[in-house]
Amino acid sequence: MLTVEEALALVMAEARPLPPRPSPLIEARNRRLAEDITADGDQPPFDKALVDGYAIRSDDLSRAERLRVGETIVAGQVPTRALSAGEAAVIMTGAPLPPGADSVVMHEQTESLDGEVRFVRASEVRTGQNVLSRGRVHRAGDAILGAGMLLNAPALGLLASVGRTQVSIVPRPRVAILPTGDELVEPDRVPGPGQIRNSNAVMLEALVTDHGAIPRAMGIAPDEPGPLRGLIQDGLRDDVLIVTGGVSAGQRDLVPPALEEVGVRRVFHKIRLKPGKPLWFGVGPARHGRPGTLVFGLPGNPVSGLVGFLLLIRPALHLLEAGVGPLPAPPRVRLAAPYTHRGDRPTYHPARWVERTSRHEGVAGVVETLSWAGSADLLGVTQADGFAAFPAGDRVFAAGEIVPFLPLR
Ligand code: AMP
Ligand code: MG
Repeated sequence: MLTVEEALALVMAEARPLPPRPSPLIEARNRRLAEDITADGDQPPFDKALVDGYAIRSDDLSRAERLRVGETIVAGQVPTRALSAGEAAVIMTGAPLPPGADSVVMHEQTESLDGEVRFVRASEVRTGQNVLSRGRVHRAGDAILGAGMLLNAPALGLLASVGRTQVSIVPRPRVAILPTGDELVEPDRVPGPGQIRNSNAVMLEALVTDHGAIPRAMGIAPDEPGPLRGLIQDGLRDDVLIVTGGVSAGQRDLVPPALEEVGVRRVFHKIRLKPGKPLWFGVGPARHGRPGTLVFGLPGNPVSGLVGFLLLIRPALHLLEAGVGPLPAPPRVRLAAPYTHRGDRPTYHPARWVERTSRHEGVAGVVETLSWAGSADLLGVTQADGFAAFPAGDRVFAAGEIVPFLPLR
């Protein structure tokens, strides 16, 4: 049976970054840029006053404290003439300096006297003060943003400043979620005898959204081949299809044959892992030139599905939308208390932080494992920050021992 690492390598080998597409600026927020951006002009486009005051030739103030007041230049206008010697122009923040001027003195450091202005601290004026010179931020043709960068609010502002209203981005992956099982009823129903509520769908919708993708929750599929195939085919329109339940070895575990019957190529079935062993993974047929849907069959128990999502689907979504390989190696944590592990599969046990330390020793903090009844127990996991991973084999782990950690976020 595959190890978790082998299974992850197989998933990553099948995942392809989504093709870029143009997007209006605001919808590009938190998306990766898929093109290199160059500036269409100098920024600022002219020598620009940074304060309200007087544009001057700083030289003039070595000879006199007072200058003649010339024209007034407001933001949005251009000076009509160069500044002559012995002259100061009234200037507003954001306005272009007149030719000849090299500095701006703040209004607060001046006194106006009947057609003249006096500079209170003339000797302290420095050439270039309160001026942002043309091209100081960037020049026309400069490379300002590179493909692959995550677009945050300042980056969107910068794109607008160079005239971009659309940019090429990597879109959010679309993820169909298909719960299966004749025993399932939707959460607004009171379960009849033998029935349980569908808790997987909303949990997976939340996980998918948390990881930057767009979920599409489908209705519950019955354990019947015909309807199951139809719903799977519908799910294959999306970039990823997550089917839950029906992947074990029971008589009504119809998902693997149904997937293969509609042309999904099986890559693996079953991983040496607890909880979540019967996990199924395959790739759907190519979609009109786009790569085939990544199809994950998660075991029906909610915590099995959660662990499967965190271990395999999260890194796959990252590759689809970021174009880069697996996330960095999992953090390692110290155990707050002893833990007895039994079993021939690595076990992921819910745990929460009791202390967060800096990463410098390669240890992210200290965790305590939580009381937990196994793969059907979501209650125990609601308190968890993630899962402590215990390698296969019977063994007592002492307090203070270090194990890998699978964070929820
Ligand atoms: P299965 O993988 O179909 O054998 O299901 C394993 C267990 O998970 C069974 O107890 C199912 O009732 C339960 N289960 C399956 N699907 C869901 C679901 N959508 N929500 C909650 N529990 C489920
Ligand atoms: Mg089932």
